[in-house]
Amino acid sequence: MYLLESKAEHNPLFKRWKKGDKRVALVYPNAYAGGIANIGLHQIYAEVNSIDGFVCERFYGNVFNCERSIESGTKLKNFDVALFSIQFEDDYFKLVDVTSKAGNAIKIAGGPCILENPLPLTPYFDYFYIGEVDGDVERLLEVVFAGDEEDCIIKSETVIEMSESGDRLKVRKELGQHLTRQIVGCGVYGKCYLIEVGRGCRRGCSFCVVRQIYRPCRWRNEKEILEVAENAKKVCNKVALISPSVTDHPNAKEFMWELVNMNLEVSPSSMRADTIDEEMAELLVACGQKSITIAPEAGSERLRRVLRKGLNEEKILYAANCIAGKIKNLKMYYMIGLPEERDEDIKSILKLTEKIKKLGFKVSVSINPLIPKPHTPLQFAPFGGKHGGLTQLRELKIKAKMLESDFRKIGVNAKIEKPEKFAVQTILSRGGADVGKALSNTKSTKSYLLRRFSHLLGELNFEKQPWEFIDHGYRLEKLRSEYENLIIEVC
Ligand code: SF4
Repeated sequence: MYLLESKAEHNPLFKRWKKGDKRVALVYPNAYAGGIANIGLHQIYAEVNSIDGFVCERFYGNVFNCERSIESGTKLKNFDVALFSIQFEDDYFKLVDVTSKAGNAIKIAGGPCILENPLPLTPYFDYFYIGEVDGDVERLLEVVFAGDEEDCIIKSETVIEMSESGDRLKVRKELGQHLTRQIVGCGVYGKCYLIEVGRGCRRGCSFCVVRQIYRPCRWRNEKEILEVAENAKKVCNKVALISPSVTDHPNAKEFMWELVNMNLEVSPSSMRADTIDEEMAELLVACGQKSITIAPEAGSERLRRVLRKGLNEEKILYAANCIAGKIKNLKMYYMIGLPEERDEDIKSILKLTEKIKKLGFKVSVSINPLIPKPHTPLQFAPFGGKHGGLTQLRELKIKAKMLESDFRKIGVNAKIEKPEKFAVQTILSRGGADVGKALSNTKSTKSYLLRRFSHLLGELNFEKQPWEFIDHGYRLEKLRSEYENLIIEVC
């Protein structure tokens, strides 16, 4: 291993390159800790390395600045293919640099940002994979080496044509086999083995892109989950359960108890507050959880209804009461800049947090402005909640400052992200190839994007949106009527 000491990773899949082998780079332009905790990347790595004549090596944004692989230190430009997994709009700036260093490698992009709207990245990639790639990596490589296109494997120029033509592209959705061998490294869930328990989400939160781009909700079989865990035990004593809402699995409690009985530490990647009762609280303690995250999203009932989160204050307080005295640290996630947000909605964030704090928790709070994401009912909403544009950005900054000082007064550690960052992300998630061409990795790019594309921060009309060519299996009219109903309700 070129960079990492042998003890840092258990890597049963490392494959040495031999003359004549094709080199495939797997590029994650963000930090190692997030990349090593991404089960999709493990899947691709395992699949490429299982093909004769192909060798896969990994690149991470904070390791050699994405310029050399961590396995052999080989430069990106010496690879035949570079597969990029793109999870965050904020990484687009770095991608401009990294793709320019990929030499003649065929550059292919996939991941959640591509499932949402690949258009801003069309100037930087040869191909896009619009779908769930697990089980399909070999075909992907065959198609791109032949210079062809096939269903969800499409060239950049075809993406642009499709977004203009009105044709629709069916997204490949396939929950394949469990991943049975994987690298174990220290990521955002600690040093652990990742087990996917489900994909997609059965809930209907109006802001959530996960429920849309990974629909339908699919669960893994409980027996198979336990078999994978038996295997995991050979390399590590901790498992992370991966799903948008782990405790929504119909048999979550049963298999989680089983895992605890196998003497494994268990970390659910994400869970909803309304799945926490007395038994779940006890189970989470037995799993070894030292901290719990609850996402009320909004402080007031009025805005929580708009978000269709299905959570009210009673349910949130019930969950917190069940955990109180058992787990000390509690993190709360909220959003601001919601449609028709008023001052009293902002104040209610503080009130709800204070009620939770009084139960004896060490509370920390994370507050982000809402990004109206493509494919969600709230995709039409203006950034910042009202008129959108730069005026709304200024108002959001005032709200963020006010919250920061109020949280300080009540002794709660609050992380409030800069609204500009989220306004830029809104532009990137709604933009076309013209936004992509304006990207560069210089300091002034973000303020330039805000000035030049401020119209993308406003409320969208119901005409065709550039990303609607991606067919995720929902009806476009339904999305529009859901948004109209939400706005009528909140006004
Ligand atoms: S519960 Fe979570 S993952 Fe599911 S739709 Fe709501 S926000 Fe999305």
